[in-house]
Amino acid sequence: MRYENTRAFAEALDHDDPLAGFRGQFNFPRDKQGRSPVYLCGNSLGLQPRLAVKFVQDELKNWKNYAVDGHFNSDRPWLSYHRLATAGFADLTGAKPSEVIAMNTLTVNLHLLMASFYRPTAERRKIVIEAGAFPSDQYAAASQIRIHGHDPASDLLEWKPRDGELHLRIDDLEQLLQREGDSVALLLLPGVQYYTGQVLDMQAICALGRRYGCRVGLDLAHAVGNVELSLNNWAPDFASWCTYKYLNAGPGAVAGAFVHEKHHSCDDFLQGWWGNKESSRFKMRPAFEPAEGAEAWQISNPPILSLAPVIASLQLFREAGFAALRDKSRMLTGFLRWLVAANFGDRLGIITPADAGGCQLSLVVNDKSVDAKAVFDALCELNVTGDWRNPNVIRVAPVPMYNSFTDVFEFGERMSVVLAT
Ligand SMILES: *Cc1c(COP(=O)(O)O)cnc(C)c1O
Repeated sequence: MRYENTRAFAEALDHDDPLAGFRGQFNFPRDKQGRSPVYLCGNSLGLQPRLAVKFVQDELKNWKNYAVDGHFNSDRPWLSYHRLATAGFADLTGAKPSEVIAMNTLTVNLHLLMASFYRPTAERRKIVIEAGAFPSDQYAAASQIRIHGHDPASDLLEWKPRDGELHLRIDDLEQLLQREGDSVALLLLPGVQYYTGQVLDMQAICALGRRYGCRVGLDLAHAVGNVELSLNNWAPDFASWCTYKYLNAGPGAVAGAFVHEKHHSCDDFLQGWWGNKESSRFKMRPAFEPAEGAEAWQISNPPILSLAPVIASLQLFREAGFAALRDKSRMLTGFLRWLVAANFGDRLGIITPADAGGCQLSLVVNDKSVDAKAVFDALCELNVTGDWRNPNVIRVAPVPMYNSFTDVFEFGERMSVVLAT
């Protein structure tokens, strides 16, 4: 694709964009003058789908009009409400419907899944995470090691980039496992590294885990709704993802979890009545009868009001089609990458690998005389929403669902202004 740095070029791409209509289905924030930002922060909190507003209101109405009967008799009965997310989650993650479940939030799910799949023994008790992992994942892994009576100082291992490099090499994970594999119980790794935007080779990670006898758990926070996933085929033991980033389901919305089908007869999990078979759940018997598949990991009845936007958002993903979203995403982020290199190549660097394939680019300021945080703050002043990650990265992520090529062009225009002053 050949790009040009003109508004006319960006507008022509928008004109030909088969997904352009989805932009109007989202609510953009507005400032006091009524102007919307150039919103490039879908990697952190996706915009609100209008359909989410409707779906939440529907459930408020159902609660009002049906009260307890809403469990069984409303349009979308609460008893089976979580299943409205099943097909959408399965599509986006390449899972079988029986392998996915909407429940809880991401870090909670990591803990619940580690309760099943992190079972340290004296010989095999370590967890591997990536260096610079998202803090919540670090805390989760370290605290799991501690509650099993071990010490994260020795048992939490890091897969690190080589000296002077920023990206993780799969060969280095293999070497780490050659050295330590016999003592490693679990690889807890991301699909897309949140800081650099590197898309990891999840298939290779899963294969290495199997080869060295370790369980594999994937954190798909920045991967779901962003890049292609094939979980049933890659076969991690478990995975989880939040839904408020690329999935646009709103702050603290219900997350997703995956348990590979090979574990569906496992009965080592923390139990609650919503993991009991629906057919016997209300018989109120003391003996637990597990639901089939990943549903057995569900514990409580789900928060319907936080699940409604997930259902709405998944409907939009189905309507848009993930293949079309990916095609647009490659062009959109390709345009951004080209623009940054062509206009600011001497001053801004992109630490996201060129073959990354996801929406996000992580930018760094190369010019030592310029304070990167000041650049970020000046961009905010010009009504560009990206996000800042310590110590020195500006993350920007045009998303194919609601961002336009003109958004990317505008980002370039405003960055020019910032760098000129
Ligand atoms: C966003 C994100 C989280 C957030 O965790 P919550 O439990 O949803 O608050 C955790 N881990 C990673 C890698 C993330 O990107």
